[in-house]
Amino acid sequence: DTPYLPKPPWLRVRAPGSQGFSHTHKIMRDHSLTTVCEEAACPNIGECWEKRHATMMIMGDICTRACAFCNVATGRPGQLDADEPARVGDAVARLGLEHVVVTSVDRDDLADGGAQHFSETIAAIRRLAPQTTIEVLTPDFLRKDGALDVVIAARPDVFNHNLETVPGLYPKIRPGARYFHSLRLLQRAKEIDARTFTKSGIMVGLGETREAVLQVMDDLRSADVDFLTIGQYLQPTRKHAAIERYVTPEEFEALATTAYAKGFLQVSASPLTRSSYHAGDDFRRLREA
Ligand code: SF4
Ligand code: SF4
Repeated sequence: DTPYLPKPPWLRVRAPGSQGFSHTHKIMRDHSLTTVCEEAACPNIGECWEKRHATMMIMGDICTRACAFCNVATGRPGQLDADEPARVGDAVARLGLEHVVVTSVDRDDLADGGAQHFSETIAAIRRLAPQTTIEVLTPDFLRKDGALDVVIAARPDVFNHNLETVPGLYPKIRPGARYFHSLRLLQRAKEIDARTFTKSGIMVGLGETREAVLQVMDDLRSADVDFLTIGQYLQPTRKHAAIERYVTPEEFEALATTAYAKGFLQVSASPLTRSSYHAGDDFRRLREA
């Protein structure tokens, strides 16, 4: 077990419990949907759910990977639920979302890594909530030839895949993944359909150097990635990787300025930034610009 580092004041968040929160909670329960907001013990759940913004996690709540930062359970996942895409679509319509983020656990056990299920979920949202813009945050589809093509053919507005950390920390933090494979996945998403916005993110505070973070930015821009998110890593339990340090709000601001200078269209870098934090606001601003 690793000890907790006490939280600095800038990471204190509002406790969940508003009316909007209860409404979001009820819709998720009524539709038997899993959210990454709960599974990842996201600190923003009070704020996001109050605004009815939730990130759906499809294909179950058991993952075939075991990333050292992640709170999702590892094991053998169950069968795919064929009704899930329609339930996601209905929940999105009931929540009245302008923008939805759909993510999943990693499904190395499936021949297509779950690509078809992603595609069906995108189609169901388009059918049931046609005004909603759709962002998918996918696994890396390692050794799943053709999977990415299936997802992009379904025309998500944003294709998001997180690099999570700098390459030097992959063996410790993201042991089942390959940095350059993930980077290439993002690049290929754009090559397959140039209309798709691409997005990626990393956590900081895991022991990475500033130089390594700047290199990740350069790698992402070389892969033509449009949006970037950078947030503070928080340790879900004592069994997970320790926080090496808390990056200050000023350092985050400096990282955002640098990222914009490198050419990203949209950057969110702050202690509480998560891949899906304010994703809709950011995307709307960009479309209106
Ligand atoms: Fe959910 Fe994302 Fe908001 Fe966290 S930041 S509560 S994961 S929507
Ligand atoms: Fe968590 Fe995703 Fe890693 Fe699975 S692949 S352990 S859901 S971060």
